[in-house]
Amino acid sequence: MIYHDAIVVGGGLAGLRAAIELNRNNVKVAIISRVHPTRSHSVAAQGGINAPLGNHPRGGTDNWEKHALDTVKGSDYLADQDAVIRMTKDAARRVVEMEHWGCPFSRTTEGKIAQRPFGGAGFPRACYAADKTGHALLHTLYQQTIKLKHAAERNEMTIYEEWMVTDLVVEDGNCVGVIAMDMVTGRLEAFQAGVVIFATGGAGRIYGNSTNALINTGMGIAIPYWAGIPLKDMEFIQFHPTTILGKNILITEGCRGEGGYLLNNKGERFLANYDDSKKDMEIAPRDILARNIVREIMAGGGFDNTYVHLDLRHLGEKKIVERLPGIRTICIEFAGVDPITTPIPIQPGQHYTMGGIDCNTEGETIVKGFYVAGEAACVSVHGANRLGGNSLLDTIVFGAIAGGNAAKYAQGLTGKKGGGALNDAAKRAEQRIDALLKSEGSETPVDVKTALNKIMDNNVGIFRDASKLKDALNVVRTLQEKYTCIKLNYTGKRVNLSLGWALELKGSLDVAEAVVAGAIAREESRGSHFRTDFPKRNDANWLKHTLAHFNTGGVKLGYKPVNIGPFEPKERKY
Ligand SMILES: Cc1cc2nc3c(=O)[nH]c(=O)nc-3n(C[C@H](O)[C@H](O)[C@H](O)COP(=O)(O)OP(=O)(O)OC[C@H]3O[C@@H](n4cnc5c(N)ncnc54)[C@H](O)[C@@H]3O)c2cc1C
Repeated sequence: MIYHDAIVVGGGLAGLRAAIELNRNNVKVAIISRVHPTRSHSVAAQGGINAPLGNHPRGGTDNWEKHALDTVKGSDYLADQDAVIRMTKDAARRVVEMEHWGCPFSRTTEGKIAQRPFGGAGFPRACYAADKTGHALLHTLYQQTIKLKHAAERNEMTIYEEWMVTDLVVEDGNCVGVIAMDMVTGRLEAFQAGVVIFATGGAGRIYGNSTNALINTGMGIAIPYWAGIPLKDMEFIQFHPTTILGKNILITEGCRGEGGYLLNNKGERFLANYDDSKKDMEIAPRDILARNIVREIMAGGGFDNTYVHLDLRHLGEKKIVERLPGIRTICIEFAGVDPITTPIPIQPGQHYTMGGIDCNTEGETIVKGFYVAGEAACVSVHGANRLGGNSLLDTIVFGAIAGGNAAKYAQGLTGKKGGGALNDAAKRAEQRIDALLKSEGSETPVDVKTALNKIMDNNVGIFRDASKLKDALNVVRTLQEKYTCIKLNYTGKRVNLSLGWALELKGSLDVAEAVVAGAIAREESRGSHFRTDFPKRNDANWLKHTLAHFNTGGVKLGYKPVNIGPFEPKERKY
């Protein structure tokens, strides 16, 4: 059995930030990550990270109160306002901290951190490093982690990369550690720790048309769910308005922040025809834009009834090359168009998991010693719709908060606990994996995954209704049955990627069930969750968070109140 004072699962922004905070507070910490940390999905973030720095003349009077109000409005009033205030108050210092750690942000002519407009604010608040903000931030944090790892005077920082956590082990309401598999050898190990932080990212790949990395399967959300910790607000899935036609690679909101236009097949900026997007046009919030693009296509304004154009040509070559170089490369390589001369064919696609593992503003869950942060967590700052630029911020703010609280908790612990429970859990995991490797069933994991992706894309997308959602739940339940009869095409233990994917598939199925069940129950439209059979928001019945509890006979739903603060829920007007 391996022992560490604290374990962080996840090497993305939230995980690394949490691990740094633990280490700075003299706690010996290990990071376990399914992939090398800089291959986490955070590296793909493009457009920017919000902070009310007021560096741009148009955002000169920006402050945390304005940022908080925009975030709460954007969330369609489902965000917990204490959490939003915590995040927006911390935003500036956390972004400046990243700058001091070496993050190469783009600059204004006076040398300040440059900012561009993103949805919800209407003026420049998103700090950026060209269109590779996630790359710049993640490499900065990774370098800090490596520095701490090699600093002799610092406490220990260990990184287990290409290790996959399979179980969270809880004894008498206390976290005692995790079980993880070394993907190279297939060896299972029990990791004992009184403090564990999950920063395991989103579940976008339960959908097929997604901007997310293939590793965002949802398993990192499912593991605590299986261990008895509820998931919150899983029905709220963000669909990004602009992804490349067919491939669904993200085309950042930064393109529209820089002045890009959305055009229909007549070359018109059609957003002007829709009440909720005519004021902010291309930088209205994402839920509104995704819906209006689909409406426009359904009304005959699309190309081939499937896509519209994002036009950057008028920005000019200089601006595109300087500020959106990654987007230009993506367009040339994956759509065969150069945005300097040709509009980009785009369609909405799954992008972000607003819900996640239920926790409070301290990153604490119902299990003592078990903390969560980042996209896997639901604090909740994004409510029913996240504003662009707020997720990167969420990772570094709440990563630091969870790490700080976990450090205090770790310092109060005495002795190693839960050895017996960990040994038992390791044995059960071994048996589960052996059974999977020996299974002679008739289903292939890839068929089950493809069917899951298809039903989620078709029935649990931007526009939802009871009948489509109920069909989706039936399909998900059938697929859960089929999963019990899958057969792997390679049964060795060394570098068995198909085993890894098969284990993750169980997580995808159970998380998808929570998404669909929450969506069926929520008979209203709020943020990203739009029900054509209940097109209005209904605060009297539904201004509350959904909780999904794992149950072998099917997910059980519960609810809890939203924390309303200074911003009274109002109709979302634009
Ligand atoms: C294409 C794209 C562009 C984006 N652009 C922006 C943007 O401009 N601005 C913004 O604010 N947000 C953006 N986002 C959202 C934002 O990037 C993510 O929400 C955020 O980076 C998530 O960080 P994280 O640390 O929570 O998780 P991730 O970066 O996804 O990291 C998850 C980690 O968990 C590990 N893990 C998961 N499961 C296991 C397991 N079972 N065992 C071991 N390890 C495990 C993985 O190895 C990984 O290291 C974008 C997202 C995408 C997909």
